[in-house]
Amino acid sequence: MIVDEDTGIYNWLLATSRGKQIPLFGMIELTGQCNLYCRHCFVTSEERKAPGLTTQQYIKLLEQMHKSGTFFVMLSGGEIFLRTDLYAIIEKAKELRLSVRLFTNGTLITREVAHKITTLYPEAVEISLYGAKNNTHDWLTRVPGSFEKTVAAIELLTERGVLVVVKNVWMRFNWSEADDWLTLVEKLGGVPRWSANVVPENNGGLSPTELRLNDEQLMELYDWELAWKQKNDRFKNSYPEETCNKINNDGNNLERVMGCGATINNYLIDFRGEVMPCPQIRLSAGNVLNAPFGHIWKNSRLFNQLRAMRDLPVSGCQGCTYWRHCNRCPGLAWIEDGGFTLPSSWACKIARIYSEVE
Ligand code: SF4
Ligand code: SF4
Repeated sequence: MIVDEDTGIYNWLLATSRGKQIPLFGMIELTGQCNLYCRHCFVTSEERKAPGLTTQQYIKLLEQMHKSGTFFVMLSGGEIFLRTDLYAIIEKAKELRLSVRLFTNGTLITREVAHKITTLYPEAVEISLYGAKNNTHDWLTRVPGSFEKTVAAIELLTERGVLVVVKNVWMRFNWSEADDWLTLVEKLGGVPRWSANVVPENNGGLSPTELRLNDEQLMELYDWELAWKQKNDRFKNSYPEETCNKINNDGNNLERVMGCGATINNYLIDFRGEVMPCPQIRLSAGNVLNAPFGHIWKNSRLFNQLRAMRDLPVSGCQGCTYWRHCNRCPGLAWIEDGGFTLPSSWACKIARIYSEVE
């Protein structure tokens, strides 16, 4: 079942799950292992060794997630196609009538794999492509030939009718290829999606953030996005839109502490089985190997503490004149600025630049 994010049904699902705190969106990191070594990756070298849980543990987990109200499941990694039991996990999710999105670097998707994917009817396959040229993409992934394989995977899937979201993170080294990247994605039949949010490592390490766009490039990004928006009705560029569900800027300048879906209607389960609010908030609410998911979702002290802060105003944001362009992530505010209740310096920087060039 394809759920169109522009429809009333989708909006109703969002509103209802928010109101009733139903865990509608769940991301599972199936493994920490990956065959690429991307320079901006948030997975730490220690986490890269984690193989994930067993097939049976994932099957049981999917049943618990389904029982608790999850409908949208995102399977992520590391690289999910390194798991030899991936099809069995997807088949279980489909048996439960869940909507499945696959997050992959695409390099392991051969003609046979592409064919198999079509038989599993994922909602979408989300593939990262970091430039329009092989040198650029391969420099980031540190694996020669990865660009060719990723491009081939996108083509193999789109020509079979699979919805492929092609994702990019704009950074200092690849920004100059923005127009060519868009042309390439459109030629391949993918749906482009991008972000400028290079995020810290899962252990809080800030080295990936050195790759972020500089002020001048952020100004250019604003104009570029504006031109794109004018040409396209459905502009989707937020990361990761399905799990964030932000309501920060809803027509007033009240910035909420937890203005997104983390702990409200979305969550993450990492490759060790730890239940977390989202990919940015790497704090454990409990482990699914020790307690059923539904119990953790409802009773976790951490989740309930974050929920209690949900609608509180962010004190440092009051009176802010840049709020219309603010896309504050409480997780980034926590990692980079010292707390969930604080402004996010990265969001402030983008909002200020966007307000100045508007
Ligand atoms: S904390 Fe940030 S990354 Fe996590 S769901 Fe909220 S906005 Fe999204
Ligand atoms: S731009 Fe900064 S100060 Fe303004 S609302 Fe956003 S996070 Fe708060």
